[in-house]
Amino acid sequence: MYNILGYYDAETVKEATALLAENPNLRLIAGGTDVLIKLHSGQIAEAELLSLRKIKALGSIQKAEDGTIAIGAMATFTKIFNDPILRELIPILTEAAISMGGPQIRNIATIGGNVCNGATSADSAASLFALNAQLKLIDSNGERLVPIREFYLGPGKVALKPGEILTEILISPENYRGFGGQYIKFAMREAMDIATLAVAVVCKLQGQTFDEIRIGLGVAGPTPLRCLEAEAYAQGKEVSMATVAEIGRLAVNATQARTSWRASQEYREHLVKELVPRALKVAIVNAGGAELV
Ligand SMILES: Cc1cc2nc3c(=O)[nH]c(=O)nc-3n(C[C@H](O)[C@H](O)[C@H](O)COP(=O)(O)OP(=O)(O)OC[C@H]3O[C@@H](n4cnc5c(N)ncnc54)[C@H](O)[C@@H]3O)c2cc1C
Repeated sequence: MYNILGYYDAETVKEATALLAENPNLRLIAGGTDVLIKLHSGQIAEAELLSLRKIKALGSIQKAEDGTIAIGAMATFTKIFNDPILRELIPILTEAAISMGGPQIRNIATIGGNVCNGATSADSAASLFALNAQLKLIDSNGERLVPIREFYLGPGKVALKPGEILTEILISPENYRGFGGQYIKFAMREAMDIATLAVAVVCKLQGQTFDEIRIGLGVAGPTPLRCLEAEAYAQGKEVSMATVAEIGRLAVNATQARTSWRASQEYREHLVKELVPRALKVAIVNAGGAELV
């Protein structure tokens, strides 16, 4: 049973923010693959919905002259997977996109809904954390940029203020140029499944040493997270099996994994220790380094 009290369509962001300012109880709906499930199950008892689907500008993916990549919040996972700019420049996001749901879900689910839903298991999250993405939030008074690391506040809780809409996800060139990356979604089965653990790694090399690495994890804590201690350790270290293994060990220190019916805390920590080095080894090759054997 869907207890939908009203339904509004906005055709521009301005119209949507004005409607939200008038009626703060309106609940945004993008693809609806989270909102409608919650309404159906009673997790949300009732709602007046404001749809963003007619706002064409929110679906675009572009690269600005300075190299900044702007992904519209309404871009679907199918669009993200097929986009030539993202495939070439930030494949850790297109890999995450194709790992998400099944074809029907990917055709309708949006990256904005994935982020604003606030789930630690969101398939876009680990990659967006590793890419240092910034979120453009707009309300009727103006706009602000929020780093994705400050956006997730707790399970299902994000830093959207009443009346705000996520319009774009921005990735600046210093966060992807010269980096190689890899995304690994570990799930309990190969068919459609939510991640037991998600790992996204990017690295930049300087000769035989690590210049910079960034590690994003999903489902390793109540929110997606970065492994800052492991990242700091890597800087300037020799690219070797020993360094990569130590990075995996240190990555576990950043986690706050819990036991759920999918996996125990210990199993998730074990996955971090194994999968971070596994992803990093591929990222090294993608960054132009030699294969570690
Ligand atoms: C069968 C099935 C399989 C799934 N598999 C996966 C999976 O493998 N991986 C995964 O990560 N997820 C999965 N999901 C969850 C879901 O599909 C994703 O989280 C999806 O990206 C949500 O996007 P949406 O556009 O449908 O969001 P909606 O349901 O429309 O919205 C989600 C939330 O975000 C808010 N919102 C949406 N857009 C905006 C915006 N622009 N600004 C502000 N707030 C906004 C809404 O108000 C709502 O609170 C699955 C869901 C189903 C039903």
